[in-house]
Amino acid sequence: MSKRDYYEVLGVSEDASKEEIKKAYRKLSKKYHPDINKEPGSDEKFKEITEAYEVLNDDQKRAQYDQFGHEGPQGGFGGFGGGSDFGGFSGFEDIFSSFFGGGRRDPNAPRQGADLQYTMTLTFEEAIFGKETVVEIPREETCETCNGSGAKPGTTPETCQHCHGTGQLNVEQETPFGRIVNRRVCHHCHGTGKIIKDKCVTCHGEGKVKKRKKINVKIPKGIDDGQQMRVSGQGEPGVNGGPPGDLFIVFHVRPHEFFERDGDDIYCEMPITFVQATLGDEIEVPTLYGKVKLKIPAGTQTGTRFRLRDKGAQNVRGFGKGDQHVLVKIITPSKLNERQKELLREFAEISGNVPDEQNESFFGKMKRAFKGD
Ligand SMILES: [Zn+2]
Ligand SMILES: [Zn+2]
Repeated sequence: MSKRDYYEVLGVSEDASKEEIKKAYRKLSKKYHPDINKEPGSDEKFKEITEAYEVLNDDQKRAQYDQFGHEGPQGGFGGFGGGSDFGGFSGFEDIFSSFFGGGRRDPNAPRQGADLQYTMTLTFEEAIFGKETVVEIPREETCETCNGSGAKPGTTPETCQHCHGTGQLNVEQETPFGRIVNRRVCHHCHGTGKIIKDKCVTCHGEGKVKKRKKINVKIPKGIDDGQQMRVSGQGEPGVNGGPPGDLFIVFHVRPHEFFERDGDDIYCEMPITFVQATLGDEIEVPTLYGKVKLKIPAGTQTGTRFRLRDKGAQNVRGFGKGDQHVLVKIITPSKLNERQKELLREFAEISGNVPDEQNESFFGKMKRAFKGD
């Protein structure tokens, strides 16, 4: 059976707003939710609606769907966020708790798989230039032998007779305040609502197996320390046919010995001699994109900052590039031979050890400050 168009599933137009999509989803999911609708086929219908909503409610996924259809690009990712906005999107749970009063959930209803988190360390350059890599994630996968049912192929799980498939039992208790009825997880089926007589030998009835899954990940250019990337649908598998969770990759970027980064801008310090600073020179500055010539004008002071346009990091959201800022630091020579010292003494004699006019205002202020003595 080929997949139906997601817009068609929800009965909305292709330019429907998020509000319209949510509304359509609420209406349809109420109608077909397995807690409410016991007609055969409503289960499938509900899964279809949920899947369509999952995609169309997410701007990134929707854009990908509009562009690539059901297949989607390989290893497509859903978006970025700084900080720790975890928990993310939990699909229909958000919406359902509001109209099913929370708490009591049908154990047979589709549920989204758990999100997974993975920390990846990048070098400074890898973060700037991005890379394609393979991550190995230990995660649960749907058992292929039983297709996740947990039952031996050819058999099906039976509805638990003790809880009638609800996964919960009412337990009556005598208390000083009278008889209280408590709801407990059914211990016969462990809350699944199903009893598996012949267990699948591969997964021992769990329906899931632990695997180390290799996932191709394309790290975009310009990732910064602490940022995270979502790889849609690569979390734990869903339960009862629900959608899988997402994989979140959190990046840790190693510092560089020469460059420092602040947002998209790169900072570095360049030592120059006092002669270069005084007479001017052309120096070579390392950048992320190779060496660049920088003109030092005559009379440059220590602490002067030069900007190399577009030599910073690529913005991770594609908003251009940052700059590289070069801070010039004049090094005072500390190991001079006699000849050098002689020349400097001569220089001092000629110039009378008076700072030039550029610094006059500063020395003027200083002199006035000492007047009180
Ligand atoms: Zn199995
Ligand atoms: Zn039970």
